[in-house]
Formats: sequence, structure tokens, C-alpha cells
Amino acid sequence: MNLNLFNIFKEDKVVAPALKRIIEKILLGQRINEDEGILLYQSADIGMLSFLADAANQSKNGHNVLHGQSLHIDLSNVCVYSCPFCTYCQKLNDTSAFALSTKNLKELLQTRGGDKNYSEIVISSACHPDHTLNYYKEIVALVRRTFPKAFIRAFSATDLSYIFKKEKVSIYNGISQLKLAGVNAVNGGGAEIFSNEIREKISPEKIKPEEWIDFHESLHNSGIRSNASMLYGHIESYKHRVDHMSRLRTLQDRTHGFLSFTSFKYKKENNRLSSLGEAPLVEDLRNFSVARIFLDNFQHQVAFAPMLKASNLSLTLSFGINCIEGAVNQGNKVYTQTLSDSKPYSSMVGEIILKSKKIPKERDGLYNVL
Ligand code: SF4
Repeated sequence: MNLNLFNIFKEDKVVAPALKRIIEKILLGQRINEDEGILLYQSADIGMLSFLADAANQSKNGHNVLHGQSLHIDLSNVCVYSCPFCTYCQKLNDTSAFALSTKNLKELLQTRGGDKNYSEIVISSACHPDHTLNYYKEIVALVRRTFPKAFIRAFSATDLSYIFKKEKVSIYNGISQLKLAGVNAVNGGGAEIFSNEIREKISPEKIKPEEWIDFHESLHNSGIRSNASMLYGHIESYKHRVDHMSRLRTLQDRTHGFLSFTSFKYKKENNRLSSLGEAPLVEDLRNFSVARIFLDNFQHQVAFAPMLKASNLSLTLSFGINCIEGAVNQGNKVYTQTLSDSKPYSSMVGEIILKSKKIPKERDGLYNVL
């Protein structure tokens, strides 16, 4: 605990007593409750949040900031659902709809990705009406053959539960088939915001909050790690965000199966909620800070580069972020991480991290330092 700094806060007449008690708990490494999380969002100024989040982060990760050499494979943007916030989904006959066959993927891997030793391959997809469990297994097996040593993080609770239900396969059976095919971990997408009143408005059709939690618990019990996420900056309140993180924290206490947490910012382009606009940078930083403090059993908090300008990424590293994940080039459907067309990802991200007086470290799929 940094007693000097805590004494400064203690003497500060502007800081409310309730906030002082929360600050003391955080600096003593004690867990804060939901009401305290909401108060932190509402009342702590941004300088104080940075100080607290950085202290919480450093106690877990020192000055290290992780980044990975990943290959992202996007199988399709065709989705049976139509979430109002989604900027991505298309219907089967839309002109910009795409879906990769195993033959397409084989060719793409040979021309674009087959010559590199990626430490992590990330496969994702919307819920395509024609996708099957066998197709998913073939895709994973193909990737595994191409990259025998790579860590494969694939799919999400949303598309997997859609397929398992369609094919009447139990969660445990489906997971075990994918594990045999070569899946090492599952993406954290589809969590959005767990509160039913908000979910009904932003993604009413897809997997329910309890199902998302249950699905990830089943993954963890089957020996498959997964990531966690939250979509913020739309119609939710601080109360909804804290409730969301609380449910993730409870599951993490039970299973310790989550590898990382990412907050995805709602983006206003090309969707039915555009009139809401987007959260400003200060709100992103506030959110990263409270997430770092509240999710005290998550070691890694990720900043998703496409969500933030490169110039703002270094700032996030003073607000509880300890991992930067790369951007995407939607022009091709297989892409490597990149923040700039002119520089390789690892050198660009390394510069960003060093600028923040932190230490860049390449990670593997389990977020171990390489
Ligand atoms: S399930 Fe995912 S891809 Fe499909 S509409 Fe919703 S957010 Fe978009």
C-alpha cells in the first residue's frame, strides 16, 4: 500500500468519506462491492482512477505490457440474428455478405498465413444459418494442420450455442468434439451487457445472460479457457456495467477459467443505434480503470486497438490496461494484427508501450510472457 499517497487522499477535504473508504480498501488489496464500484464510476476523478487502476495493475503485472502475434480468421459475416447495435452482420443475399469454405480457407492460409509461426490463431464468425459443427471441426483441423504448434482460440458462446441447439448436441458433447479437433480456448464475444432490460433492447434474439455464463462455466469445467468481454457506451448505466462485471467476477471465483477481460466500445457506424453517438475518451479511461479495480481476479485487461486511436493506446496503459490486441484489415478475411500500414505490428505496438514507460512483452495464447 502506498501510504504517502493514501494520506494525501485522507487529508483531502474535497474527497467524500465514502470514497476515501473505497480508496483505502483498494490500496489494501481488498475487494470492492457493487455499490462501491458504482460510486467509483460516479465520483472518482480521472486522476484518482488512474492512480488506483495503475496500482492494481502493477500489483499483478509489474510494468509489463503484453502483445501477441496473432492471425485472425473471420469465417463469415452472415448472421441469423439482427442485433440493433451490430455494425457487422449481413443477410445471405446481401452484396457484402461473405462466407469462407474450407477450400477458400486452405488457399488463403497457403498464400497469406502458412509461412509464419503464429503464437495464436483467432477464429471468429457470425451465426451463419448453414454452418454446422462438422464445418467448424474441419476449419479447426485445417488450421491445426497448417499451424501444428499454434494456440487456437475459436468461436464464441453465441455461435457455438446456436449450432449446438440446432444440431441438438449438448454443450459438453459439442465442446469435447471441438477440443478433440484442436480448439484451445473460446472467444469472449456475445456477452454484451448481462442486464435483461438492456439486452432486450440491444440484442434481444441471441443467447441469454444465464446461458452465456453457463456456457463459459461448461467450457472451464471441460478444460477449455475463455475470454470475457463487455460492450459499453450505448444505453447502459454504471449500475448495469458493475452488475455485468460482478457476474463475471463470480464465475471467475468459481472456475478461474477466464484468461482476460476486454471492454468493447459501442461504435455508431452502420447500425440502428447510431443516434446515441459514442462515449468520449475520458469515459473509455474511466471504464478501463473501474474494470481493473473491480475485476480483482482477472490478471489481464486488454485494450482492443481498432477501438482506440494509436495515439490514445499509450494512455490506456496508465488506466489499468496490460495487454494490447491488434487491429484488423477487413479487406481480406484473413489478417494479421496491424496498427499501421507502414510498420509491422510488433514494432508499432512496442513503440506505444515504451512511450508509456512500460515494458513490451510478447505473449503466447495463455497470456504467458514468451
Ligand atoms: S449475433 Fe453477433 S454478428 Fe450476429 S447480429 Fe448479433 S452482434 Fe452481429
